[in-house]
Amino acid sequence: MPPSITPLDQSKDDHDDLVFLDEHPASTAAPGTRGAWRVMIIDDDEDVHSTTTFALGNLDMQHRPLEFVHAYSASQARDMLKVEHEIAVILLDVVMEQDDAGLHLVRYIRETLKLADVRIILRTGQPGYAPEIDAIRDFDINDYKTKSELTRIKLFTTVTAAIRSYEQIRKINDSRRGLSQIVHASTELMTLHGVHNFATGVLTQAAELLGQVPNGVLCVQECPEAGCKELHVMASAGDYRHLLNQPLLPTDDVRVHEAMEAALVQRRNIYGPDHVVLFFAGKASRDFVAWMTIKRTLTEMEERLLEVFCSNVAVGLDNVELVSHLHNAAFYDQLSKLPNRTRLVEILDATLAGPGRDDATLSLVDLDHFAETNDALGHQFGDLLLLAVAGRLQSHLGQQLTVARIGGDIFCVLGDSAQVNPAMILALFQTPFSIDGQDVQLSATLGLVRLGEHDGSGADALKDADIALKRAKSQQRAGHFYFSRSMGVEIRERVRMMHALRTAFGQNQLFVVYQPQIDLVTRRPVGAEALLRWQTPDGKFISPDRFIPIAEYSGIIIDLGEWVMRTACRELVALRDAGHDNFMMSINVSQVQFRHPYFLDMLRNALEDTKAPPEFVELEITESMAMEEPDMLIKMLGQIKQTGVSIAIDDFGTGFSSLSYLQRLQIDRLKIDRAFVTEITGSARGSSIAEMVIQLGRNLGLAVIAEGVEDERQAGILQNLGCPLAQGFLFARPMTAEALKGWLSNDALAASA
Ligand code: C2E
Ligand code: CA
Ligand code: CA
Repeated sequence: MPPSITPLDQSKDDHDDLVFLDEHPASTAAPGTRGAWRVMIIDDDEDVHSTTTFALGNLDMQHRPLEFVHAYSASQARDMLKVEHEIAVILLDVVMEQDDAGLHLVRYIRETLKLADVRIILRTGQPGYAPEIDAIRDFDINDYKTKSELTRIKLFTTVTAAIRSYEQIRKINDSRRGLSQIVHASTELMTLHGVHNFATGVLTQAAELLGQVPNGVLCVQECPEAGCKELHVMASAGDYRHLLNQPLLPTDDVRVHEAMEAALVQRRNIYGPDHVVLFFAGKASRDFVAWMTIKRTLTEMEERLLEVFCSNVAVGLDNVELVSHLHNAAFYDQLSKLPNRTRLVEILDATLAGPGRDDATLSLVDLDHFAETNDALGHQFGDLLLLAVAGRLQSHLGQQLTVARIGGDIFCVLGDSAQVNPAMILALFQTPFSIDGQDVQLSATLGLVRLGEHDGSGADALKDADIALKRAKSQQRAGHFYFSRSMGVEIRERVRMMHALRTAFGQNQLFVVYQPQIDLVTRRPVGAEALLRWQTPDGKFISPDRFIPIAEYSGIIIDLGEWVMRTACRELVALRDAGHDNFMMSINVSQVQFRHPYFLDMLRNALEDTKAPPEFVELEITESMAMEEPDMLIKMLGQIKQTGVSIAIDDFGTGFSSLSYLQRLQIDRLKIDRAFVTEITGSARGSSIAEMVIQLGRNLGLAVIAEGVEDERQAGILQNLGCPLAQGFLFARPMTAEALKGWLSNDALAASA
């Protein structure tokens, strides 16, 4: 290019020096020089290129020189801009190939190339070619100057301002990009499970943020409160890979160790020329720190981004720590640190799927009378006792077998059948446990399942073991019981019946029958007992002795019992309407019903809604029920009595009620169990239990009724013993409401005849 002098400003109004080109055009920085501000000059006038480079050549902003890129036509600029990058400023001539070639180029830069950051300064020789204001705004044209306006100093300030503005835009965009990268990194990290995966992810993402290959370690500072500031490597990458999962010692790499210590003490990131130390403040007194080697010094922007990244990640690290803690809590018993039920089921599933299945046995180990010991000696003592048991099981069996704690006082041993057997396990309870210098003798009951014979899941195996345990406990002091298939069948049958019962109740397959109760002397009916019946669609009857326990067990009894109560009350009202107004209705109440918090409300509502007179309603509760929780029962009976209904004790004589206790209960009637009625004819003994009950009733001022009277001999004896009332097949079988009405009117006819 021929040297020429191009005056950029001929106006003498300002005192700027005119720009003249001399023999030494400003040296342009080599393309791609790091840190140079790249300025592109697009002008078809070669002189403009030289004067501009000359005018700006020694401009140095923040220790970064300028680097010039030259294009001599709009079309050349187009081609160059496709590949050139990081152009900060474009000094663009408006008039080139066409009068508005520059403006078209601006549109191309912004809209097609989508270069939004670059600052554009339009220059034109003639003021008349000024672009429209709209174009300036729409295409983000930074400045517009006529060439004559651009004195050296003006050019200088214009370009400086443009570069500053470019820098700001870049910063904002960089940080926006960086932030979205951090958001992306955090989201990525959150999908990683476990502390180690997360920590590794932190190294990877931090490196990615800086465009580096992951190379470093991430450590947690163990127990800093105890003073032992040990660094433990949670993740490692690259050259540091071998350090994973061990303490990081100064001997491993003194530089790394010191830098990490420094970051922990200063509680901040530390940036070196070839490394960064990242500090992650942990919440629970544990901090995290990472060392990463890098291949270049970081920009200020990158440092700031890393700080955002670190505080973001610290929360995440804390959370995964928390989650793994929760995971621990979810799978391990907090007291004994043994696997809990959930974990045991996992182990069981694995065992069942594995090769050892046929030789494995599962045993539940239930401590006898632990609850009482706990109550008597306190929970702290109980915990120590449980710990002692856990310790003994673990130390004797833990090497080869799985020892778990699946409930308060229920432990579990799983493993080879040769070792998991009653003799081996129960032998561990022969020596007392020493707690606080006190010897405690414990015994245990076992429920065992041979996994080879089991065909369900781990959870099913545990259920089976539980069934066996219950059986062992019910057969007092059996010590242990092996689950057998027949027990399983029994249970499954019960479950099947439970579903059937629920359906039956919903489909009105259940109904109530009434068995009359009579006065033994007059042989006239005085009332009836409501008894539930279940007839399946194929006409079969299922005995209440079978389905009532299932209804109780499943809770169906709550609704079912209420329904019986209302049905019987309605029937009582119907009978009264038919003229049988001195008639009692006895209704059986199950223990489960009785204990239900809304039982009283249920009773009151039934009476109120059906308008049944309470003084003609009697509730039958069993003697075994009357024996439990005396205080609760006494209170409850008092409240029931307030509704006006009376109470009978069913199956009396089968339990062991003490006389004094009976006296405290507000009951009205004793019902002699059928077994004692059957017995009176057979027994050679002079006095029978029936006789004793009758006497007891008399002494306590209670009415007495005998149930299950099947023949005249029994009726005669009872009458002679002074039993006033009776119920049984001799007089009438349980019958439907309709039949009862007929029976009662026939009876009335018979009586009046
Ligand atoms: P339970 O309360 O002792 O009822 C008397 C049972 O003896 C009834 O059997 C009745 O049919 C039967 N029975 C009556 N007279 C004679 C007799 O002369 N000889 C013989 N061998 N048996 C006689 P059922 O109806 O099979 O009821 C069995 C048990 O089911 C009842 O014993 C009661 O505990 C329970 N149950 C029946 N209905 C209900 C109910 O609605 N609610 C509750 N909670 N339990 C009920
Ligand atoms: Ca009864
Ligand atoms: Ca009974």
